[in-house]
Formats: sequence, C-alpha cells, structure tokens
Amino acid sequence: MKYISTRGGIEPIGFKEAVMMGLARDGGLLLPDTIPAVNKETIKKWQGLKFADLSFEVIRLFAPDIPAADLKEIIQRSYATFSHPEVTPLVKHGKVHILELFHGPTLAFKDVALQFLGNVFEYLLKESGQRMNILGATSGDTGSAAIYGVRGKERINIFIIHPHKRVSRIQELQMTTVVDANVFNIAIRGTFDDGQAIVKTIFNDLDFKDKYGLGAINSINWARIVAQVVYYIYAALQFKEGRVDFSVPTGNFGDIFAGFIARRMLPDHIRNLVLATNENDLLSRFVTKGEYSLGKVVQTTSPSMDIQVASNFERFLYYLYNEDSGRTREAMASFGKSGRLEFSQKEQQRIKENFFALAVNQSETTATIADFHKETGYVLDPHTAVGVRAALHYIDDQVPMVCLSTAHPAKFGDAVLQAIGREPELPASVAGLEDKESRCQILDADVDQVKAFVEANGL
Ligand SMILES: *Cc1c(COP(=O)(O)O)cnc(C)c1O
Repeated sequence: MKYISTRGGIEPIGFKEAVMMGLARDGGLLLPDTIPAVNKETIKKWQGLKFADLSFEVIRLFAPDIPAADLKEIIQRSYATFSHPEVTPLVKHGKVHILELFHGPTLAFKDVALQFLGNVFEYLLKESGQRMNILGATSGDTGSAAIYGVRGKERINIFIIHPHKRVSRIQELQMTTVVDANVFNIAIRGTFDDGQAIVKTIFNDLDFKDKYGLGAINSINWARIVAQVVYYIYAALQFKEGRVDFSVPTGNFGDIFAGFIARRMLPDHIRNLVLATNENDLLSRFVTKGEYSLGKVVQTTSPSMDIQVASNFERFLYYLYNEDSGRTREAMASFGKSGRLEFSQKEQQRIKENFFALAVNQSETTATIADFHKETGYVLDPHTAVGVRAALHYIDDQVPMVCLSTAHPAKFGDAVLQAIGREPELPASVAGLEDKESRCQILDADVDQVKAFVEANGL
C-alpha cells in the first residue's frame, strides 16, 4: 500500500513517510491508494478481539512498512494509558448505544489517535535519528491530547499555544500541569484565531521550519484517521449480525471521515453515517443543500466543533470526484478564491447516499442533555448530545444506532450544569489538577515573540 495526494502532485510514498509528511507537499491531503477489502473469514477472526488487538489487525493493513512486532508494541503502549479495560466501551442507554471514546488521559476522543501518533513519531524519529519540534494552536481539546501524546518522549519538544484565559479551567490545567521537560505551554494575550494565524505564519517561514524540524499535530495526519477507523469496526462487530448506524458529532470532518473508511472496509456491517454539527453548520449544509461555503464562527456550548474550515473535507471530495485528483485540485483552488463550492444534482444525490446530516442548536443540545438524563440517568457531554439529538432524529427500528461520545461530561461542566442543575462528578485524573505544579509562558499575540521562545527552547 502506498499513499498519494488528493491533488496528485507527489510520488506515491509509504506509511512512515506519510506520517512524517502530515500535509502532502503539494498542499493536498494524503490517502492510501486503495482501501483494503476485508473478507468474511477475517471479519470472523476480528470479532471478539480486544481493542488493542483489533487496532493492530486494522492498522497493519495500512502500515505494511512498520514491522509487525514493532507496530504491535506501539499500539499496546498507546492504549495502556486508557483507564477503562475495554478502552472504548459500548454501553446501551435508552434507544441508543453510546461508544465512550473518552477514557484516555485527557478525557476526549482525540486521545485515541494522539496517544498512537505520539508513539509513532517517537519510533520513526529514533529510526531516522532526527528530532522534531511540534508547534500547534488549540482552543482546548487538541492541545492537551497532543501534549499527553508526546510528554516525556525523546527527540520531541512540543509548543502549544492557547488563548490566555479563554479556555476552560480544566482544559487550561490539563495542559499547564504537564511539566515534563519537553512540554512548553504558551498562553497568548489574544484569541484562538490569533494563535492559529501565528502558527500558520511560522510554518510558512520555510527556513525556520526546516531549521527547527517543525512538526504539526492537527487532524490532517493520516495516522490519526486510521487510529479512529478502528473504533467504528470495534463497535460494529459487537453486533453479531446485520448492520448498524453511527451518529458522529463533527467539525473538521475527521471523525466522520474515519467512519466513511470503516464502512468501505465493512459494508455489510455499517449502514448509515449521521453527520451532526452544532450551529456552525458548514458540513450539515453541505449534505442537505449541496453547497460548501464558509460562514462565520459562532461560539457554542460544544466549542470543539466551533469550526468553519473542515480540514479533512478534501479527502471526501476526492472520493466524491471518483478519485480524480485533477478535479480535486481545481475545486480546492476555486474554493480558495471564492470561499464556496457547488455540486451537481448527481453529486448531491451521492453525498446524500453517504450521509444523513443535522445541525443542532444550543437549546436543543441543552434539552437533549436534560431529557436523556431524565430518561436514562446517563449524563452526556454537549458534543455527544449534538450527536445523540441527530441520532434520535434519524433512528429507525431496523438497525441499532451507535452514538460516538467524544468527551467526558466533566470536561464541559458548565453546559451540563445548565442542563441538569448540577456539575458532573470529576474523574480522578482531573480532580487533583488544581493542586499540581504548573508551567506556562504568557506572551503577546506576536509572531516574533513566539519564534524567539521556540528558538530558545527548541531541540
Ligand atoms: C475535536 C472534537 C470534536 C470534533 O472532531 P472532528 O474530528 O473535528 O470531527 C468533537 N467533540 C470533541 C469533544 C472534540 O474534542
């Protein structure tokens, strides 16, 4: 298996190189040249495997250039940090099944991919003798998951910028109380957008990028997608026969794109994918109206989906265009100029065959947390509630519905308090954070200040 760019501008490369490249050098996104077919016999073998063992069986299909024993060890280590023995347990509540993806160290689903990616980075850097300085901006969840993914690792330093006093207290503490020598938190006096703009500017300074071996950790890395494919298969195979539907709260199109790949591999086990957004409805509009056009970001109670540029969208576009990279390249160039894309009747039909979609507003989200709690006693986080709301809209009696639960409710305690009148109980991993030592550098929202800080502390 080789990896190609959605824009067709690179020679095919292996998995290892694809992970290190992140974004394809021609500006496109990397994809495998084929999606492996899985026969009935293999599926039978996969049924009943533990999460980490299944993870190994799935990921090895996409990463033939990592020796099996090494890959197995990397994966075992990545999921040993999860607090639940099943890693991503599936629990039934009311009419739906909840796939709990929040038992990792930072209590959000991003741990599933970033625990793996951190270990893969470390492995590949050791092999090549190189080093990497990771630089990223976060509005909360990605930063802590990335920090926990690489803390204490050799040959990697990580610099994460968050907007000073504009992330939740728990999110801030989850980042700043990691005081390993290779972790550098930067709080800028500005917004998340300021942070992202700074990161973008620094990555565009190619001399600086090369000199410091800058690495990115955002959701365009293929290793993140492939790690997420696993939990769809893990959940689907727990139903002994027939197909299941999935509901996915999404912003970047990353998580649901992993579901799209999983369904390609197991078409007899996965039926519908429900794409749920909050008021930032770029993606749900894409499915229901057949247009992809930028809107303004509005703040909601599900902040990790307050996004108007879906960084993984181009991967789906490539398949929608029947794997035509020329067409994908033209479409993205045109989107770059006009901020919108339109689709033919026939394409709209195909989009609708692939996804159901619903945008869920904040009062509906709050009501869903409250109603679900009243009916089942189970507390949903606001992101998960967006997905559950959409799931209940589309559910039918034919097949089971699995709702991806992307965060522990304690991470978004204010939204939960509003809905059910009390804050969720804090899990042990975050209960003691206030008393821990913390470290963070406060800087102006200024490229030169951030650069100077990376120069002073980079590997
Ligand atoms: C990042 C995040 C999402 C959105 O994931 P995408 O890959 O952008 O679809 C949803 N919920 C939570 C809690 C997140 O942290």
